[in-house]
Amino acid sequence: MTQPKRIAVLGSTGSIGVQTLDIISEYPDRFRASVLVAGSNVDLLVAQSMAHRPDLAIIADCSKYTFLRDSLAGHGIKTACGAEAIADAMELPEIDTVVTATVGYSGLEPTIRAIKAGKDIALANKETLVVAGELVTRLLKESRTKVIPVDSEHSAIYQCLMGEEKRAIRKLIITASGGPFRTKSIDDLKKVTVKDALSHPNWSMGAKITIDSATMLNKAFEIIEARWLFGIDPERIEAVVHPQSIVHSMVEFVDGAIKAQLGLPDMHLPIRYALGDSSRLPTNERGMSIADFSHLDFYKPDTEKFPMINLAYHALKTGGNTACIINAANEIAVAAFLHGQIGYLDIRKVIEHALEEIPFIASPDYNDYVETNAATRAFATSILSSI
Ligand code: NDP
Ligand code: MG
Repeated sequence: MTQPKRIAVLGSTGSIGVQTLDIISEYPDRFRASVLVAGSNVDLLVAQSMAHRPDLAIIADCSKYTFLRDSLAGHGIKTACGAEAIADAMELPEIDTVVTATVGYSGLEPTIRAIKAGKDIALANKETLVVAGELVTRLLKESRTKVIPVDSEHSAIYQCLMGEEKRAIRKLIITASGGPFRTKSIDDLKKVTVKDALSHPNWSMGAKITIDSATMLNKAFEIIEARWLFGIDPERIEAVVHPQSIVHSMVEFVDGAIKAQLGLPDMHLPIRYALGDSSRLPTNERGMSIADFSHLDFYKPDTEKFPMINLAYHALKTGGNTACIINAANEIAVAAFLHGQIGYLDIRKVIEHALEEIPFIASPDYNDYVETNAATRAFATSILSSI
């Protein structure tokens, strides 16, 4: 029998990370967690390590390291801490596939290191492609790494493209639930609270992506992600609002046919598909009964109410470090919104100010992205109190 695939779960304590470990547990003959990486939730990382017995457990927050080391001492699990240790670990021979389920910019460096080491990637961390899509795509061309998307929309498109030729694609159609504020008026949006924004109608996800879904910047990020993953020009990628989140995305072909992938809004499915290397692993989990859905609705997004969707086209047209600026400003603004420092509509203002202030770089290299990210974060932080 072949050995189980050895998986590094980057962000094992988060929403995608926990669901990834569910899938690893569901197929113990096929998969094994060999490296677990968390941000700061050391209690959960210890519990996951005791359950999964990885070769290595890493915590990004070094102030929690002593607890991690002492808790796992004598169990044959190595421990480490900090961003450098995380990036270095991506090259370990004990890894076949890296699941990038960390949130935000922190996914970029380890993903690049995993690509350089030729590891396969199950990509959840869309910010990697938002921040540095051009660079990452270039590195992928020189590497044996295979990327399979985890993001439900991109997994759906990937599945629709099986057996199809790239030149047969007319359009990628990315579905969007519309988030919790789909039916609110522009006036209502001035008054929404953190609790309102965290109440996603269909998906249970980490806080940052839930806020991105409420502003619909998540959909802009997904358009950028699709552009780099599938090599399709932005004018051939469109978003369509589909409140039920049953059709996970679609591809229109040159003969007019449209293929879609349907399923319940449950990330276990795209994670299972990505870990299974695009083969369909049987599961006892309940599927959906199509007859339960008497109608599925689709309509054009309201870009007056959700103008952030258009940032995708702006960023892709302008190129360079533009999307990196948008991402960094958004990370600061979303954290500030979650802490009650700024309002919902201020998130967009922070991004717009950053786009005006931070110098444009047409052909950024890796260090330019690092500097753009740092400069944008500093600038965005400095304007929070006066926004
Ligand atoms: P969560 O906030 O739930 O989890 C984030 C994970 O990253 C946690 O394990 C966290 O650790 C860890 N982390 C945070 N900062 C660092 C760091 N500096 N270094 C290492 N690890 C860190 O996020 P989600 O699971 O919701 O999302 C993860 C990624 O997947 C995002 O890019 C998101 O856009 C994408 N995605 C998520 C979907 C979902 O359904 N949740 C759907 C599609 C895409 P800790 O908690 O220990 O601090
Ligand atoms: Mg998605």
